[in-house]
Amino acid sequence: MNAEQILKHHNLKNTGCRKFIINELLTNESALSENEIKKTLPDLFDRVTFYRSLKTLEENNIIHRIVLHDSTVKYAINKEAVPVADHAHFHCKKCDSVTCLETQMQMPVSLPAGFSVDSVEVLLEGTCPECITKNV
Ligand SMILES: [Zn+2]
Ligand SMILES: [Zn+2]
Repeated sequence: MNAEQILKHHNLKNTGCRKFIINELLTNESALSENEIKKTLPDLFDRVTFYRSLKTLEENNIIHRIVLHDSTVKYAINKEAVPVADHAHFHCKKCDSVTCLETQMQMPVSLPAGFSVDSVEVLLEGTCPECITKNV
């Protein structure tokens, strides 16, 4: 699906700014921070529109946020192959890229009796294949 089809699928108005954000995230392999998305944002959109659009897309489960250990927030598109709630993320400490890991996640710990889980967030950190190749 392209940006227009995604918006239509979610019954959302096809605004230029929403389309822009979706396109940026669709064309990038890794997740992007607000600033990375904004880097190429055309002047026609002001900050308010930009943040409102991000929020709308997140609320409609078109994109999801990933919070890194230094509280940087990155956004990634929800691919149909990736279950929204339960996939882990990989943060490369060398190039700072964040990748959605499309494998089904197993519960990382067994829960003591009496606890109930609503969501699981797993962030793996290390070196991505590209950085490993570059350093050899
Ligand atoms: Zn890397
Ligand atoms: Zn993800």
